[in-house]
Amino acid sequence: MTIARVAIIGLGLLGGSIGLATKARGLPIATTGWDRDASVRQRAAARGLVDQVCERAEDAVAEADLVILCVPVGAMGDAARAIAPGLAPHAIISDVGSSKEAVAEALAQALPGATIIPAHPVAGTEQSGPEAGFATLFAGRWCIITPPDGADPAAIAALSDFWTQLGSKVELMDAAHHDLVLAVTSHIPHLIAYTIVGTASDLEDVTQSEVIKYSAGGFRDFTRIAASDPVMWRDVFLTNKGAVLEMLGRFTEDLTALQRAIRSGDGDTLFDLFTRTRTIRRAVIEQGQDDERPDFGREHGE
Ligand code: NAP
Repeated sequence: MTIARVAIIGLGLLGGSIGLATKARGLPIATTGWDRDASVRQRAAARGLVDQVCERAEDAVAEADLVILCVPVGAMGDAARAIAPGLAPHAIISDVGSSKEAVAEALAQALPGATIIPAHPVAGTEQSGPEAGFATLFAGRWCIITPPDGADPAAIAALSDFWTQLGSKVELMDAAHHDLVLAVTSHIPHLIAYTIVGTASDLEDVTQSEVIKYSAGGFRDFTRIAASDPVMWRDVFLTNKGAVLEMLGRFTEDLTALQRAIRSGDGDTLFDLFTRTRTIRRAVIEQGQDDERPDFGREHGE
C-alpha cells in the first residue's frame, strides 16, 4: 500500500506541522488540506502548510490514500461526516487526537466500513492555529498508533511508515491502554497546571502583583502548560473521563499522604519521594525526551 496523497483536515498546530514536515523532508507525497474556518484556510494557504488548500472537505479527500483528522477530539465525528461523501474506497482514515477510545468510537460511527487506524503523535506545544505549526515537531517524538481489532496489517504498516518518515518513533498500543498512560503523563499534569494557575488567579485580590512578579519560580512553568488551547483540553477531559478520574483518585491519595507527612513533620517521607522523582527526571533525559539544560534552556542575563 503506497501513500502518495495525504489529506489533512484541520489546519492548526498538528495539521500544519504534518504538512510542513512532509514538505521539509522531501517526501514524494502530495498534500491537500481543509479547515472549517475560512480564515484558517486562507492563512494556511499563505504559509504553504499543504500543497493545495481546498474550499470543500470532500474535494480535499477525493484522491487521498491517507486522510488525517487534526481537529479537537470533540469535533472528530463532525469532521468525519464532512469528508464522508468524498472518500476514496481504499483510503486509510487516521487522526492525531489526544484520547483514543472515544475517537475510535466516533470515527467508526461516522464512517461505517471505512479503514480506520487512529493515532496520537505525542508531540505538541501550548500554541494553536495555522501559524503555530513547524516542520520538526515530530522529530524524535513518539507516535502511538492504536489499531482496532482486526485492522488491516498493510494499512497499519503504511501509516507507521508515514509517521516514521516524518521523523517519529512509532509504537502500537491498545486504545484503552493509551488512554490510561496518557492520563498519567499528559492529561493529569495539565489538570494540575490549570488548577494551580486557577487557584493563584482566584487569590489575585491579595496577591496578583506578587504572583506575576515572583513567577520565576515553579509557577512560571505551570503557566506555560496552563496556556494550552482551552477547546482541545476541554475535549480531552470530556473524552478520557474514565482514565483521568481513575488516575486522579490515585493522585489525590498520594497528595493526602504528602499533606500528612508535612503536617506531622515526617521529613523522611518527603526526602524519599523527592529522591525518587529526581531519578525519573534523569530517565526522561536519558531517553531523549528532554535535555538537561537547567531551567528548560532559558538564557539568563548576567
Ligand atoms: P488547533 O491548532 O486548534 O487546530 C485545530 C483546527 O481544527 C482549527 O483550525 C479548528 O478550527 C479546526 N476545526 C475544528 N473543528 C473542525 C471541524 N469540525 N472540521 C474541520 N476543522 C475543524 O489544534 P491542534 O493543537 O492542532 O490539535 C488538533 C488535534 O491534535 C486535537 O485532537 C488534539 O487533541 C491533538 N493533539 C494536540 C497536541 C498539542 O499539543 N496541541 C499534541 C498532540 C495531539 P476553529 O479554530 O474554527 O475551531
